[in-house]
Amino acid sequence: HAKDGGKNCCCVFNQVLGTQRDERFSLVNDLHKALDRDELHLHYQPQVDSVSGKLVGVEALLRWQHPVAGMISPARFIPLAEEQGLIVEIGEWVLRQACSQMKHWQSQGLSDVRVGVNLAGQQMMHEHLLNTVDSALEDSGLDPHYLDLEVTENFLIKQPELLVPKLFKLREKGISISMDDFGTGFSSLSYLKKLPVDTLKIDQSFIRDIGTDKDDESIVRAIIVLCHSLGIQVLAEGVETKPQLEFLQDHECSLIQGYYYSKPLPPKELLTFALARQQGEVIA
Ligand code: C2E
Ligand code: MG
Ligand code: MG
Ligand code: MG
Repeated sequence: HAKDGGKNCCCVFNQVLGTQRDERFSLVNDLHKALDRDELHLHYQPQVDSVSGKLVGVEALLRWQHPVAGMISPARFIPLAEEQGLIVEIGEWVLRQACSQMKHWQSQGLSDVRVGVNLAGQQMMHEHLLNTVDSALEDSGLDPHYLDLEVTENFLIKQPELLVPKLFKLREKGISISMDDFGTGFSSLSYLKKLPVDTLKIDQSFIRDIGTDKDDESIVRAIIVLCHSLGIQVLAEGVETKPQLEFLQDHECSLIQGYYYSKPLPPKELLTFALARQQGEVIA
């Protein structure tokens, strides 16, 4: 009986593997067509000043509305896009779309709000990055001061001699740079001083346990103090509760992003949220 059981197990195992392989295969296929089929969209998540409660930025986040599978999370398809070499093309679309959207919102009354765009490693490495950014700004007519590019620390450390000068060049254009998911990688704190970074985004894994984990609280406090002394703005990601917000306000973390204020929103809803905050209808 043990043998039969083993066989059955093996069958089930193969079926599961097979299913995963097929699904993966069709997702890869479909991802190649997703752009042309208009299945990719951007949602925008508010970034709020912790003192005034004003909207200061929005982060563009990719959404894939698959005709059969429904909404597929970027955590699932971005790695596929990277593996398939599609991320450069998709990333350029995101950049163009985000710049045009912000320019459009500005014509509808939104002022002094930046749009943040996530850059994948392959985009940073790409020899045409600076041209791509220039042309996205030019074609949309967006002032570079309203564009923020998000990069991750792990990636920067891999090839600093190639990437750090690129960041300086982007910054010379007036674009600001954010370091995303800070704390999850391996960059040493002293390294931060050498990087042209305007804003550091503390990863949500440190924010989640504020109020219950004293170690995470100490880390967050230390990052904020360090950034202040280096003249870097601090943003907390994944802020969901009032106690988390109050802790961050008490320790002078200047920017807040998270469900406490809002989930990522489709463009129309974002504008409604933004105009209400701009007119001071909502307090902190
Ligand atoms: P990220 O850049 O760190 O973006 C923040 C993620 O945290 C988003 O997940 C956002 O929806 C989520 N989030 C925000 N506030 C909260 C909160 O209060 N609680 C919780 N639990 N989560 C919160 P999302 O949209 O699923 O994106 C996941 C990741 O996919 C992003 O992480 C980014 O690394 C990547 N990504 C998304 N769009 C793009 C893109 O256009 N290009 C590239 N290269 N990567 C992208
Ligand atoms: Mg990001
Ligand atoms: Mg992040
Ligand atoms: Mg992330």
